Amino acid sequence: MSGPSSPFSPDVPAMRAMVLKAARQPLEMERRHLPEPGPGELRLRVLACAVCRTDLHIVDGELPLPMLPIVPGHEIVGVVEQAGPGEEAGLRVGDRVGVPWLGHSCGCCAFCLEGRENLCDTPRFTGYHRDGGFASHVIAEAAFCLPLTMPTTDASADAARIAPLMCAGLIGWRSLKAAGEGTRRLGLYGFGAAAHLVAQVAIAQGREVFAFTRPGDLAAQAFARSLGAAWAGGSDAQPPVPLDAAILFAPVGELVPAALRVVRKGGRVVCGGIHMSDIPAFPYRLLWEERSVVSVANLTRADATEFLAFAQAHPLQVHVRTYPLAQANEALADLRAGRIEGAAVLLP
Ligand SMILES: [Zn+2]
Ligand SMILES: [Zn+2]
Repeated sequence: MSGPSSPFSPDVPAMRAMVLKAARQPLEMERRHLPEPGPGELRLRVLACAVCRTDLHIVDGELPLPMLPIVPGHEIVGVVEQAGPGEEAGLRVGDRVGVPWLGHSCGCCAFCLEGRENLCDTPRFTGYHRDGGFASHVIAEAAFCLPLTMPTTDASADAARIAPLMCAGLIGWRSLKAAGEGTRRLGLYGFGAAAHLVAQVAIAQGREVFAFTRPGDLAAQAFARSLGAAWAGGSDAQPPVPLDAAILFAPVGELVPAALRVVRKGGRVVCGGIHMSDIPAFPYRLLWEERSVVSVANLTRADATEFLAFAQAHPLQVHVRTYPLAQANEALADLRAGRIEGAAVLLP
């Protein structure tokens, strides 16, 4: 497009973004002027952005939408293209960085002050309170960008495999910590992007993994075994031994009592998702004997530092299916239908 009727003459730098204008509507491709980073911000050229189940909850209107239109996407790998005035986080033009869900925390509320910025009272989440990575470019706060120092052989293939670490990996890491140090036998419900990474982390740490999939999803069960799971079966099946803890990544409330049934006395059930269907009533004896149910919310930058160091020392097999940016709606549909082994990743 060019000419006097178009704001996008070839001389005006532009970006492309997949935009959500209303809940339950397909994302629309938009051309926009390239934004200037403000104080403390960076403009990144997006190399890859993975698609998270949270994006699906946003697009499907299962979470309140604080900002519309919004560009979703919070598992971003990008290259610093321009720094705003006063940017002093030490990142330079050309550096490769990750941008996770936590795009800002206030630094002064009670939670931030006690090192729990994941629970900040006034957070800003990427692709939710500010435009995210389903785009060719994104603006991010420098202090919340994660330097990526993994060696690169093929920049775009590597970016596609690193992007899912930014949420699936990170939330998985935080959920694994919430499961408890003493967890030797770990159940994972929902064997998607997060579970396929956590399984590898847990196994590398010497734990045994028991993978629960949709009943009858033999492909997902075979996938789990191929990554080293000791056992895989449907979520309605009984594992061969009692488990120490279970993490739920599937957003299905019925799985909470199901998981309580398979954990031992004192065992813990961790809900790793931001949204879940209602948990049905269940008999108190499932919770009795000091079993507990906890949720994991968001992440801290300390989680990211720990997890990225772990991932560098223990390279993870990151299974991805890539889509061009313009096919973001197809990627979301495939995720909704459970058709993806590993993670869906958009390449601008
Ligand atoms: Zn996410
Ligand atoms: Zn705060």
